[in-house]
Amino acid sequence: MLKIKRHLIFGSVFLLGAMALGYFSGKSFMSMHIDDHIFPSSGLTENKMLSEYFPKLKKTPGDTPVFIFQGEQPGRNILILGGAHPNEPAGTIAAILLVENIHVQAGKVIIIPWANHSGFTHNDPQEGSPQRFSIRTQDGQRWFKYGSRLTNPIHQWPDPTVYINPSGQKLAGTECRNLNRSYPGRRNGNLTEKIAFGIMEVLISENIDLALDLHEAAPEYPVINAIVFHESSAEIASIAFMELQLSNLEFRLEASPPNLRGLSHREWGDFAKVKAVLLETANVSHGRLKGKPSASLITEGRDKNYVKADKLGRLFVPFKEEGIPLKLRVARHLASIEALISALQEEDPTKIFAIHGLPSMERVKIEGIGQFLAPPK
Ligand SMILES: [Zn+2]
Repeated sequence: MLKIKRHLIFGSVFLLGAMALGYFSGKSFMSMHIDDHIFPSSGLTENKMLSEYFPKLKKTPGDTPVFIFQGEQPGRNILILGGAHPNEPAGTIAAILLVENIHVQAGKVIIIPWANHSGFTHNDPQEGSPQRFSIRTQDGQRWFKYGSRLTNPIHQWPDPTVYINPSGQKLAGTECRNLNRSYPGRRNGNLTEKIAFGIMEVLISENIDLALDLHEAAPEYPVINAIVFHESSAEIASIAFMELQLSNLEFRLEASPPNLRGLSHREWGDFAKVKAVLLETANVSHGRLKGKPSASLITEGRDKNYVKADKLGRLFVPFKEEGIPLKLRVARHLASIEALISALQEEDPTKIFAIHGLPSMERVKIEGIGQFLAPPK
């Protein structure tokens, strides 16, 4: 009798423990489906959803906010995309920082910070990445999700063995969930192709002149600290490249290969006839050589394995003890955006564009990103 009682007590404690574990892990899992907060500047003129450009995205996990800053005078129109790959936080944070700071007097700036909204609802399996990282503002911490390179499989499943993207390139099956292989998208395609199609609709219907896609890559990847340009933007990319070099910022200038299909810098230029540029900074947190993944690895960007790899000459960017922190990567994106906008203005001074509030690279490097983000409510 006593033995049965003991079994019952042990069983109940075990069951309660399993239920508590299930509750807390389920809660943590579901929290990835709640959006981070963005606090737009008073310069915001319209807040749309991507589904307003492509209604088939309505009520899908691919729908995402589109922030519009329309100047009083007409001029150049610019699209800035962050979060095409949600595990490349410098692009997303640079886009959010712009939404929270800029005012446009002439022309128009459209910003989509979470381009692959579904990719922000999960992490890459077997990577052990943290779900979030934080940035200290003037009054409290802001938290941001660290997502996956790909659309969440619960939103788009199953993957084919081989994926043939909308522009005919044959790729590994999982790449069907990679937004930056899915352009120009398909009206009746899978969710990722529909997101790509929606972004093409923004480019065309908003008469975008210059479109920038903000990314990051591992330091061992050859296309790093790079400006990748479609041939239609060769001139402005070269001018911006020289301007950045004068500010002691080393970049690689890479022409978009015509046979590499499905990527933003290729298909935006070919199909929407915009000047398309993709920017890359160096992020250790999704590199293959990194140590233990953590939120501070994302924000501080310090890793001794990469210091060693640099000494062995295996990296495409210099990597020292101080690492490559998020603020430096965001500052690089901001400097590149500023240089490309100024090159666009130089190219045709009759078409005006006036913006203020764009945080300078120097200030972000010295004061930190949090100085330019609104405090949490
Ligand atoms: Zn990327």
